[in-house]
Amino acid sequence: MQLTDRSKKTDKSELSLLENTYFPGVFKGMGITLKHFFSKKATIRYPEEKRYLGPVFRGHHILKRDDKGRERCTACGLCAVACPAEAISMVAAERVKGEEHLYREEKYAAAYEVNMLRCIFCGLCEEACPKEAIYLRHDKFVPVFTSRDQVIYGKDQLVEDMDNRYERDAWTKEDMAKLWLENK
Ligand code: SF4
Ligand code: SF4
Repeated sequence: MQLTDRSKKTDKSELSLLENTYFPGVFKGMGITLKHFFSKKATIRYPEEKRYLGPVFRGHHILKRDDKGRERCTACGLCAVACPAEAISMVAAERVKGEEHLYREEKYAAAYEVNMLRCIFCGLCEEACPKEAIYLRHDKFVPVFTSRDQVIYGKDQLVEDMDNRYERDAWTKEDMAKLWLENK
């Protein structure tokens, strides 16, 4: 089995008079350049333009609210247990009378933090969550940070903004697989 083309014979014949002027080679090169100049570009002008990464990309965490704007997270701790990097921590609290419009369940996360220095974006927290509360956004990267103070994301950075809700084409693994197969 031939693995390389090193055995390929090099053409060592004398150049013709025309070839000696280098014009054929120059025009051939220009032709290739022009072809690529007018063809569809493989690159984009990042960060002004962003490529669609599909619903499977795992980016910035988000704590989803339900359709009534109530926080879905019930501070059960399953995401923290599932996290191999021990990046998640939370403080649970009991919902009191009058807070039904804020929290869907009787228990909620009074504090919820993700340490982005530890996170490896494996998505296990998303898979472990029984309340469909935590997701890793497919459309938002975690921004570059320059100090350790910027890497602990609290509820202020995680809880969904009802005026700018997070949507994706597929929410479950099954739907994602279906979508992927459709767009293959
Ligand atoms: S994506 Fe993985 S590492 Fe990051 S918080 Fe979730 S479970 Fe932990
Ligand atoms: S995000 Fe989900 S798994 Fe994590 S504490 Fe909240 S409800 Fe439980």
